[in-house]
Amino acid sequence: MSTFSAPKGTFDLLPPDSEAVLAVRAAMAAPLRTAGYGYIETPVFEDTALFERGVGESTDVVSKEMYSFVTRGDDHVTLRPEGTAGVVRAAIQHRLYAGTLPVKLWYSGSFFRYERPQAGRYRHFSQVGAEALGVDDPALDAELIALAMRAYADLGLTRVRLLLNSLGCRECRPVYRAALQEFLRGLDLDEDTRRRVEINPLRVLDDKRPQVQAQLTDAPVVGDSLDEACRAHYDAVRATLSDLGVQWEEAPRLVRGLDYYTRTTFEFQHDGLGAQSAVGGGGRYDGLSEDVGGPPMPGVGWALGVDRTLLALKAEGVEVAGVAGVQVFAVPLGAEAKQRLISVVDALRRRGIAADVAYGDRGLKGAMKAADRSGARWALVAGDRDLADGVVQLKDLTSAEQEPVPLSEVVDQLEKRLQQ
Ligand code: AMP
Repeated sequence: MSTFSAPKGTFDLLPPDSEAVLAVRAAMAAPLRTAGYGYIETPVFEDTALFERGVGESTDVVSKEMYSFVTRGDDHVTLRPEGTAGVVRAAIQHRLYAGTLPVKLWYSGSFFRYERPQAGRYRHFSQVGAEALGVDDPALDAELIALAMRAYADLGLTRVRLLLNSLGCRECRPVYRAALQEFLRGLDLDEDTRRRVEINPLRVLDDKRPQVQAQLTDAPVVGDSLDEACRAHYDAVRATLSDLGVQWEEAPRLVRGLDYYTRTTFEFQHDGLGAQSAVGGGGRYDGLSEDVGGPPMPGVGWALGVDRTLLALKAEGVEVAGVAGVQVFAVPLGAEAKQRLISVVDALRRRGIAADVAYGDRGLKGAMKAADRSGARWALVAGDRDLADGVVQLKDLTSAEQEPVPLSEVVDQLEKRLQQ
């Protein structure tokens, strides 16, 4: 019978590497938790129409990359390709906008896009995200950006760059869109791209092909079309970022793959990743709530890619998590010893000391090998004779020194030694 593998574009996270994933998620969440963001969990699938209307039907994410299906009950649902639409849906459903504003939320989980897999681009990936809803204060945009930069810095990354732009609002962007469209119509573009010019001209700026990029040098930039309110908002974001000591690069051509962005947009890039250099991104989305049937509820947020952050850590040679393992490993020789040592291990664990037992009765040699592999500093070895004497052998696995310790004292002794 043939065996199964993880589906294309997905991967398994196995120990000990999986520890680094937990550490990255925790490091991304920690700054948010110190800034009043509360944890939210929403379903992994939502109504397909939520993403169509929220993210936008002309985007690649919606038109090409969604995992959509019809359920047995004839519901049209989609595995979430991003987190903001679901969070905004939940905020509307639970009337969070009627409480204290802003509503600050963070999430962590799995996302799904049917993309062409390559290094750093998967069909199932992991993000930590944050959203601040109900207030259009530019200082909030800056706060979120600063929190993301803190997370990267706390992880030990030094090569994350912040690219910043403003995409304008629903009043001034159409003016820019028209100007850009006029410019793009005059270029030598293939059929597909010409169609894109008519549907979603901003996305053409994001075309990576050199023959397209070469023609875009004189394209109008959105910054020149910003109305007064958008310009003031952008200035205020930058002023607060300066106050917070955050450095950025102006990226007048930065557009993002999701349609809901207004005003501030940003991306965190790492130069050690090759083509997929965005380790995170986000921006303001002041019209999204109305787009999905809610009340006016401005918002700003970001999502940081956990998988690509891991690649960035690797590229910089940063070790984030110590090898997960135990501190004490018990090696029982015989059934009675096993019974006693299982109780000792349980007592150690209750005190917060990570401990394990050689299960499977594989004999002294195999058990000692397991003890070495466990990463433990100490082994507890006991056979019938030790039990008769009321002791266990406490072995220092680094020096191989061993001494008998009374069974009744072993937990206290180990606790003391591990504190030294
Ligand atoms: P986005 O929602 O497209 O702005 O994505 C935010 C971040 O999630 C990106 O900067 C990436 O780090 C990560 N990300 C997005 N799509 C993928 C993917 N297919 N595979 C791995 N990471 C991804």
